[in-house]
Amino acid sequence: MRILVANLGSTSFKYQVLDSDKGFEVTHRGAYERIGQATGTYANHGEVIDVILKELPQPPDAIGFKAVHGGPISGAVKVDRKVLDTMEQFADVAPAHNPCYIAAMKSFHEKLPRVPQVACFETAFHSTIPVARQTYAIPTEWTEKLGIRRYGFHGASHRYIATRMAEIEPTAKKIVNCHLGGSSSMCAIKDGKSVATTMGLTPQTGLPQNNRVGDFDIFALLKLLKTGYSAEEVLTKLGKQSGLLGVSGVSNDMRDIEKAAADGNAKAKLAIDVYVDSVRHYLGAYTVALGGLDAITFTAGIGENGAELREAICADLDFLGVKLDRTKNKVRGKEAKISSDESKVAIWVVPANEELIVAKQTEAVISGN
Ligand code: ADP
Repeated sequence: MRILVANLGSTSFKYQVLDSDKGFEVTHRGAYERIGQATGTYANHGEVIDVILKELPQPPDAIGFKAVHGGPISGAVKVDRKVLDTMEQFADVAPAHNPCYIAAMKSFHEKLPRVPQVACFETAFHSTIPVARQTYAIPTEWTEKLGIRRYGFHGASHRYIATRMAEIEPTAKKIVNCHLGGSSSMCAIKDGKSVATTMGLTPQTGLPQNNRVGDFDIFALLKLLKTGYSAEEVLTKLGKQSGLLGVSGVSNDMRDIEKAAADGNAKAKLAIDVYVDSVRHYLGAYTVALGGLDAITFTAGIGENGAELREAICADLDFLGVKLDRTKNKVRGKEAKISSDESKVAIWVVPANEELIVAKQTEAVISGN
C-alpha cells in the first residue's frame, strides 16, 4: 500500500509517500512553503495538492494526515463528515493547524474521491496521561461540557521516540523527550507510554514556541485589555508575535537568535535563556513524575541541530546523573548517543520520524488491523 502522509502548517505543506509493502520505505517526498503569502508561489493548499499529484507516478492508495486537534476524537480514524465537523469545532484552539487540514482533506477528496483518508490525531499518544495531570483546576462543568482539559500534541513525534528508544536503548524505561523545533513540547514517557506533556488544551502552552507564548499567567490578559488592546489583538500578539520572536525581537528562528546573541544582542540572549530555563523546569518536573530518569532524548530542528542549546539544557545536572559528552554532542541531525560514558542517564539525539508513525497507523486503519 502506497501511503501519502501529509504534514501541514498554515503556510507549509510537507509530504512523503511510504510503501508498506516495502517496509515503509519512503518513495517520494516534497516540501512547499510560503503558501498563501504574497511572496509565495501557491495561493492555497489545494494548488499544492495539484502539483503533488502531478509529481507522483500514480495516485496513492491512502492518505494519512498528521492531524492536530479532534477534541474528543483521538487516535487514528477514517476521515468522514463527523471528523471534519469536530475538527471545525476545535479550530478556534488550533487556528494554525485545523483549518489547513480541513481544507486539504476536502481538496484531496474532490481530486481523489475513492482514495481513503485517515486522520492520525496528535493528541492520541497522550491518552495514557493520568486524569489528575489532564485536569485544569477549573469548574468541572467546563471540563465536562466544553472539553477544556490538557490534551497534548506532537503525539506522532513522541510516539516515534518511544518506539525507537525501545530499540536503541532498551533498558531506558523512564524517558524525557524534548521535541524542540518551530513548535516545541516535552513528554515524560514511562514504559513506552506518555505520562505527562507540556502542551495543554492548545499547542500554544508549555514551552515558549517560535512565535507563540507558551505558559502564561491568564490574568495578565485583564491588564492587557484594560491597557486598550482588543481581545483579537492580544490573541494575535500571544499567538504570532510572542515566544522566541517576542522576547528576542530578532526572529522566530533559533539560528538567527543564536547568531544575534553571539553578536552581543542581550534580548536574543534572554530569549535563549527563557527557552532553556523552561525546558529545564519541565525536565525537573518530569524526573519527579517518572520517579527517576533513564534517558533524555532530543528531536526536531533545534533538538537535532542545536548543540549549544543541548549543552545549556544539560548543564550542571551531575546530581541527577546527567553528563553530556561535549565532543559527542557536536553531532547535528543524526541519531547518536551524546552522554559521557559515566553518565547514569543516557542522552540521545534522535531525528524525528513522524511520517513513519502516521503511515503505520494509516495502514492499520485501512487494513482493519
Ligand atoms: P517545525 O516545528 O516547524 O517542523 P523544525 O523541527 O524544522 O520545525 O525546527 C525548526 C527550528 O529548528 C528553527 O527554530 C530552526 O532555527 C532550528 N534549527 C535548525 N537548525 C539549527 C541549528 N543548527 N541550530 C539551532 N537551531 C536550529
